Amino acid sequence: MTHDIPRPDAHQALREALRDLCKPFDSAYWQAVDEARGYPEAFVKALTEAGWLAAMIPTEFGGSGLGLTEASVIMEEINLSGGNAGSCHGQMYNMGTLLRHGSAAQKALYLPKIASGEWRLQSMAVTEPSTGTDTTQLKTTAIRRGDRYVVNGQKVWISRVQHSDWMILLARTTPLSQVARKSEGMSVFIVDLQQALGQGMSVKPIRNMVNHETNEVFFDELEIPADNLIGQEGQGFRYILDGLNAERSLIAAECIGDAYWFVDKARRYANERQVFGRPIGQNQGIQFPLSESYIETEAANLMRFRACALFDEGQPCGAEANMAKYLAAKASWEAANVCLQTHGGFGFAAEYDVERKFRETRLYQVAPISTNLIHAYMAEHVLGLPRSF
Ligand SMILES: Cc1cc2nc3c(=O)[nH]c(=O)nc-3n(C[C@H](O)[C@H](O)[C@H](O)COP(=O)(O)OP(=O)(O)OC[C@H]3O[C@@H](n4cnc5c(N)ncnc54)[C@H](O)[C@@H]3O)c2cc1C
Repeated sequence: MTHDIPRPDAHQALREALRDLCKPFDSAYWQAVDEARGYPEAFVKALTEAGWLAAMIPTEFGGSGLGLTEASVIMEEINLSGGNAGSCHGQMYNMGTLLRHGSAAQKALYLPKIASGEWRLQSMAVTEPSTGTDTTQLKTTAIRRGDRYVVNGQKVWISRVQHSDWMILLARTTPLSQVARKSEGMSVFIVDLQQALGQGMSVKPIRNMVNHETNEVFFDELEIPADNLIGQEGQGFRYILDGLNAERSLIAAECIGDAYWFVDKARRYANERQVFGRPIGQNQGIQFPLSESYIETEAANLMRFRACALFDEGQPCGAEANMAKYLAAKASWEAANVCLQTHGGFGFAAEYDVERKFRETRLYQVAPISTNLIHAYMAEHVLGLPRSF
């Protein structure tokens, strides 16, 4: 091998710091967490204490004031180390809603505690069982009564609720029949989970293919102080959309970390494993899919850095963030498949980590936005085709 995977870039110092932090959380650590269906508490604690999850919080609120580019390198390195940033990525980007749309008092109250890790804002509740991707049809309501909002309804697939102190909630505050556009009349709240649990909110974990803490959430007359409304009532859908470019770019970076991990793992094995008296990597049937995966990962990586650079310059980056997420999720999934195939039967053995990472990276074709919806965005907003839904 002539160079590292990924190749050295402008972020080496940051990469080295992350590699040092991730080193103790090795293959055995992540296997044990996966087997126990546990939460990587020690890893998330170390990451929080080192300040990495506060990368995008401005320095005036106790964060590091770094850009999306650097934040994406942090996420990439976690997955490249063999870990899974999906256990904690919400803490990095969920605060964006507060930062962009919260009042001065809300920012002063929440951001420093989120930056220090004292308060975990790992959860964001948007998806509902009966409406799925069609978010504007969501059924959860928040009705103003005096100095409180009363919430009723249900969410599904809400991640990290059990490892969070606060949750961002999107709910309808004005009925669909009373708004001019279906994207109006929804609002965003910050919910105190300790207070809400057992007093109008209940949580039911969903056992799933990945070791990912995700839940059904039920609201029955949950009362939220009116002060916990973020921004203007009725504008919540727009606020959530504002956060999606950062989320997509960060998740693209996680996929790129995974993709490089799979290529590296496979090329090492292909060099070592001898069958028919020669390394399997001598066969073009093994080489070419690996080459293809590497090429596609490098291309996705360029788009990731393009999306992040535009975001950091304050430029529109919807198309680039979507393309980065699409290319990266595709590259990581194809690399996962190639890596598993290269390992033959051993790819199925938990001790090689391939089957675990294979399961983990598959998620990103579906969440936080499914591949079809990226195509729908590109068709409408970039190619000028009629809206399909
Ligand atoms: C492990 C996990 C964690 C998650 N965490 C969170 C979370 O923390 N917070 C949260 O709010 N949500 C979360 N989600 C939900 C996730 O964002 C949704 O699953 C995703 O947006 C798809 O919604 P759906 O599952 O309802 O699929 P559906 O909307 O039912 O779609 C099913 C399929 O149909 C396709 N489809 C639907 N409409 C169209 C169309 N018009 N054109 C073409 N294809 C279409 C979709 O692409 C998809 O492939 C999580 C999901 C998972 C699996």
